[in-house]
Amino acid sequence: MTNVKHLTVLGTGVLGSQIAFQSAYHGKTVTAYDINDDILVKAKERAAELAKTYLAEIPGATQESVDAALGRLSFTSDLAVAAGEADLVIEAVPEVAKIKEDTFARLNDVAPSATIFATNSSTLLPSQIAPSSGREDRFLAMHFANRVWQFNTCEIMGTPNTSKETFDTAVQTATEIGMVPIPMHKEKAGYLLNSILVPWLAAAAELAAGDYADPQAVDQVWKIATGSPLGPFQIYDIIGLNTPYNIMMSGDADQQKLGAWLKENYIDKGRLGQSSGHGFYDYTS
Ligand code: NAD
Repeated sequence: MTNVKHLTVLGTGVLGSQIAFQSAYHGKTVTAYDINDDILVKAKERAAELAKTYLAEIPGATQESVDAALGRLSFTSDLAVAAGEADLVIEAVPEVAKIKEDTFARLNDVAPSATIFATNSSTLLPSQIAPSSGREDRFLAMHFANRVWQFNTCEIMGTPNTSKETFDTAVQTATEIGMVPIPMHKEKAGYLLNSILVPWLAAAAELAAGDYADPQAVDQVWKIATGSPLGPFQIYDIIGLNTPYNIMMSGDADQQKLGAWLKENYIDKGRLGQSSGHGFYDYTS
């Protein structure tokens, strides 16, 4: 058992709300922080929705267990209150370096000196943000995936300055909140999963965009020949096509061509993936 009893999450958007609820569900006392009280109203609604989702989707979840999680979760727009008793702060604010750096600098002024800071950034390396934290030995990345209760990996990536004790505490805490910790030896943009996933998805798009085969045929050969339950285009539909599109458009000319193909043939036609009812596949029936 770690001595992380009180966990604070900064940002109550898609990922922050999930990390907060997941931690509370697994017994931590959690404070969720966001920039103003109007956003906190939405944050409370998100928490109530998550309680319903856990009840419906987590084996063994009961009304009592989700109510208890809600009871362990509090909300504030006062950073000093949010940080005051935190053993671990997980940051899930927008993916903008300046916002993250400002947030950690302000946090460092109000958090106890022993508190560990973690970023959930998907694309920024922790060493880029660490100097703003004022505590580089107690700073690292804990990277969760959307739908944390289902896709429950937590990639843990330190910087050369992260202490072993901090790293080990993060690994252990991830386990305590129902995640599977995935420890990394050193920093890498994209962590482990996206280092595999992004080129794999691009390779599949190249085949369909180059008209070598239909997306369904690409999925079929992948699934049958490797025994994987899902093919790349099914994964596109789960992620939603906008995120891969944005990644492609920030790549080289070949990647941008793939992005243009995705946009013209799917995104512009409202085929954004499962969430819109249509993507490479139809989900309405
Ligand atoms: P989001 O836009 O849904 O939520 C961001 C939240 O941060 C909002 O509630 C916003 O009000 C709040 N915020 C804005 N400025 C703030 C500040 N200065 N201090 C505190 N809160 C502030 O974003 P998201 O999708 O939850 O992503 C958050 C982080 O999680 C990003 O770093 C992203 O890379 C990472 N992430 C996202 C996903 C995903 O699938 N969405 C997956 C893994 C990691």
